[in-house]
Amino acid sequence: MPTEFDLIRRYFTRPAKRALLGVGDDCALLAPQPGMALAVSTDMLVENRHFFADAEAAMLGHKCLAVNLSDLAAMGASPRWATLALALPQADEVWIGKFAQGFFALADAFDIELVGGDTTRGPRTISITVMGEVPAESALRRDGARAGDDVWLSGSTGDAALGLAHLAGRVKLFDLALAHCLARLHTPVPCVALGLALRGLATSAIDVSDGLAADLGHIAERSALSAEIRYAELPRSRALAECADAALAAECLLAGGDDYELCFTAAASARAAVEQKGRDVGLTVTRIGTMAAGEPGLVSVAGADGKPTRLERRGYDHFGI
Ligand code: ADP
Ligand code: MG
Repeated sequence: MPTEFDLIRRYFTRPAKRALLGVGDDCALLAPQPGMALAVSTDMLVENRHFFADAEAAMLGHKCLAVNLSDLAAMGASPRWATLALALPQADEVWIGKFAQGFFALADAFDIELVGGDTTRGPRTISITVMGEVPAESALRRDGARAGDDVWLSGSTGDAALGLAHLAGRVKLFDLALAHCLARLHTPVPCVALGLALRGLATSAIDVSDGLAADLGHIAERSALSAEIRYAELPRSRALAECADAALAAECLLAGGDDYELCFTAAASARAAVEQKGRDVGLTVTRIGTMAAGEPGLVSVAGADGKPTRLERRGYDHFGI
């Protein structure tokens, strides 16, 4: 049986790059560049809550890091370092090897370095902490939106939730639509380049992990404003646009979650600049609504008829049953 130390050495130890000291000592030693603030975020994924027990290990390695990188993107931070805390029911080396492969492929793509962690036996749980760098004054916080700002969305929402609805038997997807939605669900790509491009331009930003309405609600709440989404203007993938179940499509678009797109606000005077940044990084960005001086935290949706509907925040509640 491999020991904890064998596993760490075999699968999670690589030569330090930017870190002064990486895996193998009591602490890693990291030196942020002068003038930069450290942006730090942790996300924990628990078996049977955030992923299925039979989830493919490489995809899981990718997704666990992707959701963390998405938080750095939403802050406008450059990815730098990560730590990985792993609880595993057994030392299954095939599983660990595949997990590490998925993890490091994404880590290399975004130039983030694994500098430490913890490994223990227990119910399968994966907790990653990422650290990035951003000038404090241009970090994309949730509390900077102003009344009259446009609300923008990168890409489109709903595909991951539609893929999940397929797996749950609520809808039947085929061929390209199925492949597209499952890829969006299992291997999301964090919008890191867009987050960097929006520094100093967006007034606030959040990554859409719990559902568009809920996450925009966080910007609204922290900025003490209300937000209105124009339903007809929400971008839709082909898979979602072709979904025959209109209620399910609306649920996926507004409350689906697991999208890892950026929802952000910017002054109306910055429209052309935002569109240019989108082109620069090769992502579509769409204006989907407006911030207003209404009830703080309220998100409403103007339907196809133009009439606003008050929307409860229906994000995914991880303490829910
Ligand atoms: P300690 O007893 O000081 O907590 P550990 O024995 O837990 O140290 O870990 C030894 C070294 O391996 C430390 O540098 C730690 O950061 C690193 N490490 C442990 N688990 C992981 C992991 N899953 N990924 C990366 N580094 C890890
Ligand atoms: Mg330890």
